[in-house]
Amino acid sequence: MDQPLLNPIDSGVMSECDLCRTMLDYSQEGVYFIDRKFVLRFWNDSAERITGIPASEMIGMTITENILSPINENGEPIHEGRSPLKMAMLDGKIRESEVWIRHRNGYRVPVSLKTVPIKKFSKILGVMESFVDLSKRQEIENEAEKYKALAFTDKLTGLFNRRYIEDFIKSRLDDFKRLSLQFCVMFIDIDHFKAFNDNYGHELGDEVIKMVGESCQLMIRSSDLFGRFGGEEFVAVLSGTNEQNMYVIADAMRTIVENTGLRSNGDALKVTISIGASMVRPDDSLESILKRADELLYKSKEAGRNQVTTG
Ligand code: GH3
Ligand code: MG
Ligand code: MG
Repeated sequence: MDQPLLNPIDSGVMSECDLCRTMLDYSQEGVYFIDRKFVLRFWNDSAERITGIPASEMIGMTITENILSPINENGEPIHEGRSPLKMAMLDGKIRESEVWIRHRNGYRVPVSLKTVPIKKFSKILGVMESFVDLSKRQEIENEAEKYKALAFTDKLTGLFNRRYIEDFIKSRLDDFKRLSLQFCVMFIDIDHFKAFNDNYGHELGDEVIKMVGESCQLMIRSSDLFGRFGGEEFVAVLSGTNEQNMYVIADAMRTIVENTGLRSNGDALKVTISIGASMVRPDDSLESILKRADELLYKSKEAGRNQVTTG
């Protein structure tokens, strides 16, 4: 006959203590308890899983050093005397931190760590630490970052795409209006590129787009932006610059492209670029500054290509 369903404690099947231990073993969190003499008394299954250290090696050990060898986000060890465990044993306060701990096999695992002093009649009996493995969360966050980055990246060149360029210019316009931080926008377009494609094919054309992007990017600082606006057109945004400097950098881009040939069957295939560049003006919008740079680019084309026009 089936046993009637009874409360496990009332029925004497399990002590309250056993029930709690069993529940803690199924918890996602690693949990351990250290008594006042720093002897480890409890180490649950998740602690074993996250650290790789079995309970049989831990129970009864006197903890003379940080069990988990935690380090902070800068990779510095959290010092013995100042470990959350020892501090909680002294002052009875709960602490929470995010640290990296050492797995038995040597690698580091990011965890969120909670240190809780266990008290009875305001006497500290020991400290419980519980920790959650954050590596899954970090993997998810890294994936999300990756997709976010892809949304702003041009597939062919790996440069920033039009969407990112436009957001970047908008944020520079905000800084300009709030803090008067000057910047300029350059429109860069490959000359006679249709003819290049017709003569050498689309694939070599793609290689040229990459070559032009890489060459021009060499001329700007890492805090500036260089991206592919679309087709064979690029945009550069330079901060903290002036009219003269803007011309010098644009002309350096023009010169490097003019002198960089793409090797194909022993030939060096060369292209040139035309550039229009303009400093930001007080009542500029995203559209107005891009339009002005594009009109200046058109002037470079009209004047014979392979040149820079500023304004
Ligand atoms: P201009 O000197 O006036 O700029 O002449 P152009 O021939 O460069 O200008 P046009 O706008 O007429 O042609 C641009 C060409 O760029 C047309 C298109 O075939 C080519 N193009 C656009 N995007 C790509 C691309 O991703 N790969 C390749 N290979 N060609 C592209
Ligand atoms: Mg074009
Ligand atoms: Mg062109």
